[in-house]
Amino acid sequence: MTTSSLPSRGSGPGSDFVAVHDPPGPDLANDTPQHNPAPWAAYVSPVAPPLGCKVCGVTPTAPVTIRAHRGLVVIMRWCRADGPFCGFCGIALVREMTTATLRQGWWGVGSLIIGAPVALMSNLLAYRKLRRLQLAVPVPGTVRPRLGKPVLHRPSAYVALIPLTWAVVVITHLVLSAS
Ligand SMILES: [Zn+2]
Repeated sequence: MTTSSLPSRGSGPGSDFVAVHDPPGPDLANDTPQHNPAPWAAYVSPVAPPLGCKVCGVTPTAPVTIRAHRGLVVIMRWCRADGPFCGFCGIALVREMTTATLRQGWWGVGSLIIGAPVALMSNLLAYRKLRRLQLAVPVPGTVRPRLGKPVLHRPSAYVALIPLTWAVVVITHLVLSAS
C-alpha cells in the first residue's frame, strides 16, 4: 500500500473524528533515524509478510517449483513454474504439468532415465507441501486455473505405461541374457 492511498487526517467525511490514541506515523519528509522507536515496534515481526499466490494473490502459499518434462528422442525440453502458489492453484498446476510429463516425458533415453523421473519426483514433493495448505477464498476479480481431475483419473497419464513397459522388458531381457 502506498502512502498516497491512505486517507489524510482532517479531511474527507471522517474529518470530525478525534482518535483516542493517535500514534505518530513515520516522518516521510525527514529520513533521519528515529532515536525513540514507536512503542508498538516490538510487536511488529521483522520477517516480511508472506507473498500471495502468483496466480490469484491469496495466502497462505508455499514456495514450490512445479516442473514438466518433454522428451524429443535426442533433445529434452523442460518447463517450470516457480511459486509461491496457494493450495488450489498449485495443485491445479501440479495435475496439469504432471499429466503432461506422463504423456510426453518418456520419449528419449535421457528423458526416460533422468528427465521424467526428476520432474515427477519434484512435483510429488511440491504436491505434498501444497496439500498441507489451508484453502483460501479467491480474491474477487482474479482468475484461477481449473483444478481438473486428479492425475490418475486422466486417461492421457497412462501413456506412460507404454515406455515404462518397454523399459521393464528391455531391462529384464538384459539381466536374463547376462546371467
Ligand atoms: Zn492461487
